Amino acid sequence: MKSIFKLFTKTHHIVIRLNAPHGVHLRPSAIMAGIAKKYSCQIMLSAGGKQVDVKNMNAVLALGLQNGDHVTLKASGKDSPEAIKALQDFLLTLCAEEANLELTQDLQKTNYEGSALQGVSVSTGIAVGMPYFYEARNSHNEESGISFEKAYKLATEELESLAKDNDIFIAQKAILESLPHASHQEFITSIDEAITSLKDTANQAKIADYQDIQRRVAKLTKGAKSLAFPKTPFLLIADELLPSDIPTLIKENIQGVIVRELPPRAHAALLLRSYKIPAISLDIDSLKPVDSVMILDASQGLLVTVPTKSDLDSANNAISAELSNSTSVNEKRFEPAITKSGKHIKVLANITDVDSAMEAKEAGCEGVGLLRTEFLFRETKPTFDKQVEAYKSIFSLFDEVTVRTLDVGGDKNLPYLTLPRETNPFLGVRGIRLFETHLELMEEQLLAILKAKQNGELKIMFPMVATVEEFNYAKGVAHALASKHSVSLDGVLFGIMVEVPSVLFLIEEFNKVVDFYSIGTNDLTQYLFAIDRTHATLSIDPHSSVLYDAIRYIQDRATKPVSTCGEIASNCDAIEKLVQIGIDTLGVTPAMIPTIKARIRDV
Ligand code: PEP
Ligand code: MG
Repeated sequence: MKSIFKLFTKTHHIVIRLNAPHGVHLRPSAIMAGIAKKYSCQIMLSAGGKQVDVKNMNAVLALGLQNGDHVTLKASGKDSPEAIKALQDFLLTLCAEEANLELTQDLQKTNYEGSALQGVSVSTGIAVGMPYFYEARNSHNEESGISFEKAYKLATEELESLAKDNDIFIAQKAILESLPHASHQEFITSIDEAITSLKDTANQAKIADYQDIQRRVAKLTKGAKSLAFPKTPFLLIADELLPSDIPTLIKENIQGVIVRELPPRAHAALLLRSYKIPAISLDIDSLKPVDSVMILDASQGLLVTVPTKSDLDSANNAISAELSNSTSVNEKRFEPAITKSGKHIKVLANITDVDSAMEAKEAGCEGVGLLRTEFLFRETKPTFDKQVEAYKSIFSLFDEVTVRTLDVGGDKNLPYLTLPRETNPFLGVRGIRLFETHLELMEEQLLAILKAKQNGELKIMFPMVATVEEFNYAKGVAHALASKHSVSLDGVLFGIMVEVPSVLFLIEEFNKVVDFYSIGTNDLTQYLFAIDRTHATLSIDPHSSVLYDAIRYIQDRATKPVSTCGEIASNCDAIEKLVQIGIDTLGVTPAMIPTIKARIRDV
């Protein structure tokens, strides 16, 4: 029975290209494992020819995933679609966060008159304040400790609660739970061993997390005394800074941090960046307590120890400018994205359901460029009324929506839809080809879409179109339904996704019948290179000139509006080229919308 069940277990998979300059280090690995553990299905991650269980944080970490790597997530089991979506959302958010970080690194330089010490930037920004020397290790009160067992339990609870505000602590909680702790001695020994084995390795930054855990437990066993911080704005100067220091410090009047040694990938560094606290690492031996303010220009890695009046004026001006700049990417997300030469590039969202529609709206999209309807109802076949309701709730949020008819087949399956078993499903019954095999289903969907239409413009788009006849047939079905059910087609446009290379060479014919084109770069790439987009080991350069040439080929010959709706436009590196080619409408993943708009403004 078990083996029969296994045979029919559904698998879902996606491929993501990491756009995260720091790769998947400890924190993302721990978060991914944490997300995966919430689901009962088995979830495997493969990259570079290796495959690991996502629930195993150390195995994910050991893959050493780097920026630009393609990762395939494959889940099998009942809740696999939800698990895949949750992990995909996390990875895309990670990419967006890191891209944002890169974007804010480009800051203006100030020349200071006063004497300054050169350190290394850990978290960019400028701050002014009195120096305050911090000795984290001495903050113990030797008298009122608790037993190790209680301390271990309390430390786990503390990390659990800290993890709600910052997911870095999820990683520490996972480490703490993985450490042998039958006795205090066993616990200390295992931490020492872990630290020794991490020294001089690529995961050296993880040492601070082990030290931090050790210190957290030690503080509880020995009893901790709270420190009194200055009431006026201060620059914290410390020999070392561990992640657990930071949630306490941010409640104080801290403006910046100068620390002896802090690798940029250490969790304390990530936390400082996430709380936007300027920080540098610097040899602090020459620093003495003084009664006057210093300037920390962390973007330049400088500590101006004796600033002049003019230095202070420029620093304060820079602080005000930076304050408005750092929030401007987000603040400007509802404004149109206009290039330096004054061209408006419309930024639309690629969405899958009501939640992502809301997220996209909040992220500042100007409409929906792609509604992937196959993700709307993943488990059971929806009734006609349910479909109308779901489409209505999405359409009512936007003035412009492009809705794609079911794109099932290939790597996307629906449990309630039987497709023929095929040797090569990516080249089989998928997308618009369902009009031949599942006409009733497609008719029902088309009618639901038409009935849900609101006042704005509604674009209906067919996926996987290879010939003009397929498009004419599907559009004909929609027209017949509209007249049969007396539904108006005013404001309804019909277009195709450009995913199959044959479209390039049929463009003159398509120009006569379609209202618009949307280039699905994900599938177009797979079909141009004949490489399965979910392949675990074969990958394609997502910025291959072949793809851009194909986009240019369409843009130059199309007489109807062209947009893109594949992953490409969610990547900052592609924006300049797409704009240069003449593409003026981009479909972007919701989390990336503010960043992509900012990138467009820079072109
Ligand atoms: C594409 O192929 O580029 C696309 C947007 O469609 P999907 O990724 O849903 O196949
Ligand atoms: Mg596609």
